[in-house]
Amino acid sequence: MAGISCGIIGLPNVGKSTFFNALTRLEAPAANYPFCTIDPNVGIVVVPDERLDWLAELDQPKKKTYTAIEFVDIAGLVKGASKGEGRGNQFLDNIHNCDALVHVVRCFEDENIAHVHGGLDPVDDIRTINMELLLADLQLIENAIPRLEKRVRGQEKDAKTILNIMNRIKDHLEEEQPLRNFEFHHGEKEKIKEYRFLTSKKVIYALNVGEDTLPEMQSEHVDLVAEFAAKENNTTVAFCAKLEEEIALLPPEDGQEFLQELGLKESSLDRVVRKCYSLLDLITFLTSGKPESRAWTIKKGTKAPQAAATIHTDFEKHFIRVEVTPFAAAHECGSMKAAKEKGLMRVEGKDYVMQDGDVVLFRVDA
Ligand code: GDP
Repeated sequence: MAGISCGIIGLPNVGKSTFFNALTRLEAPAANYPFCTIDPNVGIVVVPDERLDWLAELDQPKKKTYTAIEFVDIAGLVKGASKGEGRGNQFLDNIHNCDALVHVVRCFEDENIAHVHGGLDPVDDIRTINMELLLADLQLIENAIPRLEKRVRGQEKDAKTILNIMNRIKDHLEEEQPLRNFEFHHGEKEKIKEYRFLTSKKVIYALNVGEDTLPEMQSEHVDLVAEFAAKENNTTVAFCAKLEEEIALLPPEDGQEFLQELGLKESSLDRVVRKCYSLLDLITFLTSGKPESRAWTIKKGTKAPQAAATIHTDFEKHFIRVEVTPFAAAHECGSMKAAKEKGLMRVEGKDYVMQDGDVVLFRVDA
């Protein structure tokens, strides 16, 4: 599958750039990944995976390749942006191109850093941004409806159905509900896919907490946002941009030690990256051998031949079978070979639905 892309949004001065810069210090060598960009606002970040580390430890491959996510720093979203304030509608295009959004929310106190709307009020900040996205979607609908009405009069195929869906979406947005909560009837989503709505994107609230909240990263503000997010069915993840910025400047071993001294187990960037991954219903399968140990990304529910196509497009057509060892089984037995000897390697056909952590070998027609 094509590379996964997450947009970083939020009000000015909440720590987006600090977060983005820390993230991109984990940057992966772009040549390994299906992204093609040299844009400074785009960074490709590896998804940490201990399973891959374990396999590579066993096989000692020439190359180890993690799976990766692209992050895009989307500046310019301010109050009034949907009406052209700030950088205006430029951000719309950037958001359109993302699979999910990481909405950075300021939860840190610092009187030296101005808050765009005065005092610290993270839930209000979230509402401001969400409202801009919603208004942009409403604008899109309002532009589309007269054109659709014309198509209905011209008796164009599907025009009536699409108009009906759009009117229902309009009502939904007018109740201040994002499109990701809209209940589509069967087949409707497909019919409106040419319209690129912003509020249909999945979102995580990334709460930028002050260093004074470490290691728990708890505060009254964090609790309030968590409560708000739960009502919306959204998830949150707390992190400290300032700390991540400091760690990113250290050699990896020192960074780890620093985290431990603070009572933290891992960098919160890793958690953010992993949360994005699961938000998008992605799973990983693994391949490992002498040339390369590698983690691959697929959507949950993908069958074996299509999974094989992520390695090589020809593999789908020439797929014969797949040998599957669940990672947990290999790990428990101590090696892939031991798992196979215990009969834990299965042979599956073209209808097999891939599972997260499958260690596989695809058999294909030469
Ligand atoms: P952006 O406008 O959202 O991209 O915000 P920046 O990343 O440029 O951050 C704005 C200012 O806030 C900078 O001076 C950062 O150093 C500061 N900042 C960011 N995160 C934190 C934090 O966790 N704690 C404190 N005290 N300052 C932070």
